[in-house]
Amino acid sequence: MLLKDCVAIITGAGKGLGQSIAEEFFKEGALLALFDIQYDLVENLAKKLDSSGKKIIAIKADVTDEIMIKNAMEQVFDKFGKIDILINNAGISLHKTIKEMSVEDFNKVININLNGTFICSKTVIPYMEKQKRGKIVNIASLAGRTGRPGVGVNYAASKAGVIGLTQTLARELGPSGIYVNSICPGPILTEQTRQYPAEVFASWNAGRAIQKDGLPEDIAQLAVFLSSDKSDWITGIALDINGGILIR
Ligand code: NAP
Repeated sequence: MLLKDCVAIITGAGKGLGQSIAEEFFKEGALLALFDIQYDLVENLAKKLDSSGKKIIAIKADVTDEIMIKNAMEQVFDKFGKIDILINNAGISLHKTIKEMSVEDFNKVININLNGTFICSKTVIPYMEKQKRGKIVNIASLAGRTGRPGVGVNYAASKAGVIGLTQTLARELGPSGIYVNSICPGPILTEQTRQYPAEVFASWNAGRAIQKDGLPEDIAQLAVFLSSDKSDWITGIALDINGGILIR
């Protein structure tokens, strides 16, 4: 097991990639704190994975609310006595063109995707500094690398911001033994993306080298690697995972 007894917080863990990361981490022996704005989702997932209630805690936590995140992390520390891993996964997109997008739309996506990553990272640092070790993994996106048709400028800007935040935070925190990396997934089949017409999903995958759709577990396995000691000489990177849509 790659994460035996490591304590991991996963934000936006109620469904999609976050849920899959939670499932994969649990298989690898991690103790989990599942954060989501939708409490019932993480509560159900926690019960499904761990009926004993000893290895997983589900917490209603909005990543944009600093007080809520501080309280949530205190609860995690009280239950498990340490925090080793933070997966900044919570994120949204609105899929509007700039003509359709209001300033409120722009700010909403930046606030959850970028400011939320900042707030959760800032709050977890003292816990990781105490033990002189920690792993932060930020879920960015291919859209933050190249821009993508239809995702919205707010989404692409937020994810490019996450990559920049990752690089600078890795430099700041490396001397304290804290690793910070980001993952840039291409289009992944989730409950949400399955709702788009097949031709729309196919258009997002145009030019892909590998003839397999991206699945949540593809991202979850990479998150396990970047959270484990198998990646102990990797920090500050933005790792592309997209079946060869982007090759450079
Ligand atoms: P998802 O299925 O929508 O799941 C995200 C979860 O986060 C939802 O339960 C959502 O609740 C929750 N959430 C939203 N705002 C929150 C907040 N302020 N605080 C805490 N939780 C919040 O998303 P996903 O497709 O799995 O994506 C997960 C991450 O991967 C995101 O950062 C996304 O940008 C990134 N990503 C996804 C893809 C893809 O193709 N799916 C590709 C590249 C990158 P609500 O449902 O109420 O909003």
